[in-house]
Amino acid sequence: MAELIVTHGTILTMDGSDSILADGALVIENGRISAIGDTKKVAQHDPGAEVIDATGMLVMPGLVNTHTHLGATILRGISDDVDGIEWMPLNWSVTRHTTQEDLYLAALLGIAEMIASGTTCFSDSYQDIEQTARAVAETGIRAELASGLTERNGRKDAQRLMEQARSFVAEWNGKAGGRIHARFGPHALYTCSTDYILQARQAADDLHVGMHMHLAESPLEMKTVKKKAGETSVQHLHALGVLKPDFLIAHALTINEQDIRLIAEDGSGIAHCPQSLGKLGAYPFPAVDTWIRAGIHVGIGTDGVASNNNLDLFEELRFASLTRKLFARDGRVLPAGEVLRMATVTGAKALGLGNEIGSLEAGKKADIILIDVRKPHLAPFHNIPGLLVYSALGSDVDTVIVDGKVLLRNRQFTTLDIADIMERVQAAFQALLKRAGWNLNLAEPTQSMATVLKLKATQQSLKIFQALMENRQSKEESGV
Ligand SMILES: [Zn+2]
Repeated sequence: MAELIVTHGTILTMDGSDSILADGALVIENGRISAIGDTKKVAQHDPGAEVIDATGMLVMPGLVNTHTHLGATILRGISDDVDGIEWMPLNWSVTRHTTQEDLYLAALLGIAEMIASGTTCFSDSYQDIEQTARAVAETGIRAELASGLTERNGRKDAQRLMEQARSFVAEWNGKAGGRIHARFGPHALYTCSTDYILQARQAADDLHVGMHMHLAESPLEMKTVKKKAGETSVQHLHALGVLKPDFLIAHALTINEQDIRLIAEDGSGIAHCPQSLGKLGAYPFPAVDTWIRAGIHVGIGTDGVASNNNLDLFEELRFASLTRKLFARDGRVLPAGEVLRMATVTGAKALGLGNEIGSLEAGKKADIILIDVRKPHLAPFHNIPGLLVYSALGSDVDTVIVDGKVLLRNRQFTTLDIADIMERVQAAFQALLKRAGWNLNLAEPTQSMATVLKLKATQQSLKIFQALMENRQSKEESGV
């Protein structure tokens, strides 16, 4: 028995041949696509099914955001226009004051933003990620959630986080009707020792789940790893046997030709986050097209809003293509169709979900978005990949379906009360900044930022960060 039928849409399938159906229909049963084809042939009358008339809509797979930190959504705008080396300590000086409720509200806000701009699956890494899992379960979106691991607060805390990650995986993997997959999330090579990363690899293997980690994210990381291990970050983890198909690399900014070969050989995926790199002035800007040509599954990610500052993947697609063309000095590089694959079918493969989501095909999960193309900036209607990457906005998304359930209909949320969430987020944000010692100044925001950068907590975090980057033993941050 069909539960949902989408009719009369222009369907971009993103299947192996990228076929497009001019007047297409999709039939959804038990959360999966049971049939796809011409409306006349596929859509029979089924009195029990909800019918969505997609006339004037472009129907495509839901977008996959391969790298986020939803717990940081409450930090939007607190660290703009600062140097890359100041950015992380500045955020830490506030995150150490976040409560479980802050994290839950931040996740709800981030999920709302993602649903409203067409993302149906995201891959996140954060400490205390159970609150994000709770928000995923309640709102109906799909997620790969990595429980964050770091040794920056000392060995005892690091072991507590490892235990927490094990419990998280045991409790949440496969939950919410199979919409949640759990992972281990060691933060980075400059906040986790080799032993700690190997411990995470072992735990991931024992529990049959994957890993998600920032890797090769700055020339400084490359320099320190080379000094300590005598090889690059990628070569180091490859030699340890940590890189596998279930390993997702975030950033991979500084990888060389040999690294690219090793990643392709190990089958690990990469989450490319161009706007976050741009905002923090990270360099060198990666030649993503060479990774794709080497056979690596490259997805696209926004990173957290503290370094983006939004979760709109349509914006990210446009930026990814244009910046790569700019740095390559060649307008032919990373064309629209290729970027679109990164945000759908290839992004899904990078997460190990290639058989389940990423394209509209019979048997796959029904994660579908409808884009209203009856807009001035989307006319004339032709060249669909180009229209989506270079002209469309997240706000053009009209309807969002995940696992066969409608989460956004006519731009209205069906599973969350957005007015209530935004009101609670504002109150929580103000209380959080107060606890962190920041006097919120709406009249002079840059003045507020300068004050925060002078705060003792930020200075302490900066010292710890520098020690970690130089691979020196960092002091316990607790009590700072
Ligand atoms: Zn990140």
